[in-house]
Amino acid sequence: LLQLSIPLNFIGFLYREIRQGLTDLEAMFDLLAEPAEITDAPDAAPLAVKGGTLRFEDVHFHYDADRPILKGISFEVPAGETVAIVGPSGAGKSTISRLLFRFYDVTGGRVTIDGQDLRSVTQHSLRQATGMVPQDTVLFNDTIAYNIRYGRPTASDEEVREAARMAQIADFIETLPEGFDTEVGERGLKLSGGEKQRVAIARTILKAPPILILDEATSALDTHTEREIQTALDQVSRNRTTVVIAHRLSTVVNAETILVLEKGEIVERGRHQELLAAGGLYASMWARQQEATEAEERLRAVTEAD
Ligand code: ADP
Ligand code: MG
Repeated sequence: LLQLSIPLNFIGFLYREIRQGLTDLEAMFDLLAEPAEITDAPDAAPLAVKGGTLRFEDVHFHYDADRPILKGISFEVPAGETVAIVGPSGAGKSTISRLLFRFYDVTGGRVTIDGQDLRSVTQHSLRQATGMVPQDTVLFNDTIAYNIRYGRPTASDEEVREAARMAQIADFIETLPEGFDTEVGERGLKLSGGEKQRVAIARTILKAPPILILDEATSALDTHTEREIQTALDQVSRNRTTVVIAHRLSTVVNAETILVLEKGEIVERGRHQELLAAGGLYASMWARQQEATEAEERLRAVTEAD
């Protein structure tokens, strides 16, 4: 029995090692997700960012030809302003962020930054000018410092620490035995979803790109931490063209423009108060979230009384 269990254990060990390797590879591909057919045009020029006005002009898009995902999306984010996108899951919000990074090309219409069609600029210059805090952050199998500095490789240790402070993750990092040199990811410390999200926020704060997209960037955080990070996010997005894809509507009440996306179409647009008064999809989403928040608070009051 003993003889048999050792090889089996060993096989289990090998299996886990191999799985681990595959997971890392998959994670890398997700991180760099970019279909092979996206290439620079022969005459591609570097993107020249002036103010950073972003426009979607009658954009159509599908992943599979028989299933349209975006059906004629038009909106503008004036230089330095913020537009929020809300809507049910599956509406196409993250797809909009992927088109903005040109992970895919539009199948109709166009996306421009300061009048330049994204298909006419080099991908390298586009990636330099844009920054994203994604919905699901994948970290590199490296130190926390490396993962933050990735936003701007020339940043000093102090700048890395400052970005971590702004993202409300510095105190946590300093409690770790190796601090910023702690290895994270599959081979190191497992970070929670909220901690990974804050590392991604720190990375983006450090990068400080002229065009910023936050895709449910604080969805993995509790309400309290979200409020604290919101201040840092408001600071990075100030004077930067920003698209905020919001999970909690309470984070977009101050946005100059809110777009409500449903099944690949913008069904409502306006400011918070206008959308509430309109009594449509936004108003019902708002009512539902208010109820959920109140229920959550009642539950907390009960459990804390114990
Ligand atoms: P949201 O962010 O609003 O939840 P997404 O933009 O992620 O929505 O997705 C919109 C639709 O596109 C969904 O129905 C989703 O299943 C589909 N979709 C997303 N990514 C892919 C993909 N890589 N291939 C095929 N379909 C996809
Ligand atoms: Mg999404």
